[in-house]
Amino acid sequence: MYDQAPPAPPLADAQNPDERMLRPALWRGWRRRCPQCGAGPMLKGYLKMRDHCPVCSEPFHHHRADDGPAYLAILVVGHIMAPMLHIAFTVWRPDPMILATSFSIGCIALSLYLLPRLKGALVAFQWARRMHGF
Ligand SMILES: [Zn+2]
Repeated sequence: MYDQAPPAPPLADAQNPDERMLRPALWRGWRRRCPQCGAGPMLKGYLKMRDHCPVCSEPFHHHRADDGPAYLAILVVGHIMAPMLHIAFTVWRPDPMILATSFSIGCIALSLYLLPRLKGALVAFQWARRMHGF
């Protein structure tokens, strides 16, 4: 299910031990891994957060991502797909049903791909900045 490798060292800054390093935490969150150890899975199923990391026991029960991941997914998908729709329409002029079907499938697929990754990154951002109880 998840890596059994020894947990990576905690992401504390050497100069300031109270600071957590943001960039590695975001990458671990994007990979849907625990931002603390990088080994344990953060999500249970598609979007459900675990109460705590099964490897390092970092608690996740107090995260507050709420609508943030969905908002970010809509923002990213819209900014990718809207120019592509314009280019496809002006350059190739496909049949409207083909255009609508292909872009609907593309939007749904990209949203389903991005949503859990953005949720992981957002929770990792909250963890790195010690927001909402982390
Ligand atoms: Zn962990």
